[in-house]
Amino acid sequence: MAQPTMVDDYQAALVTLQEAGHKLTAPRKTILHYLVSTDQYPTADMIYQDLLKQGHQYSLATIYNTLDILETCQLVLAIDSEQDGKRHYDYFGHPHYHVICVRCGRIADANNFDFSQLPNAASQATGYHIQNYEVMVKGLCPQCQERLATDQTEID
Ligand SMILES: [Zn+2]
Ligand SMILES: [Zn+2]
Repeated sequence: MAQPTMVDDYQAALVTLQEAGHKLTAPRKTILHYLVSTDQYPTADMIYQDLLKQGHQYSLATIYNTLDILETCQLVLAIDSEQDGKRHYDYFGHPHYHVICVRCGRIADANNFDFSQLPNAASQATGYHIQNYEVMVKGLCPQCQERLATDQTEID
């Protein structure tokens, strides 16, 4: 199956925003485009700094407001990292899950598992009307595994 391109994702996200009744203001378009394009999991501060470097002087309040709207429209997922205590943002136009390293906090996207039955199952089990879901799997990233293995040999 062909992966949708970034341009497709961005255009589709703009339609979602508009259909939810949100005006396509310049900050909303810029922040959305930034999140669709990045493979990082930026914090609001990082978004602020990066956009400033690109010549966009948006206040942190504007960025937080925009992120709220994008979250409400389920275009963006907030990931709270226990490692750095910060909230990270991820474009979430396509269902996928995350694996987070319990040691260094590195986050990875994974989309090789079908969660499409999860909302139905959750609704059947609880009677809740399911709006969204997120799945976080925890483990040790390859870098930390390597580092731990090295530390181990040094001790021996
Ligand atoms: Zn790690
Ligand atoms: Zn993700």
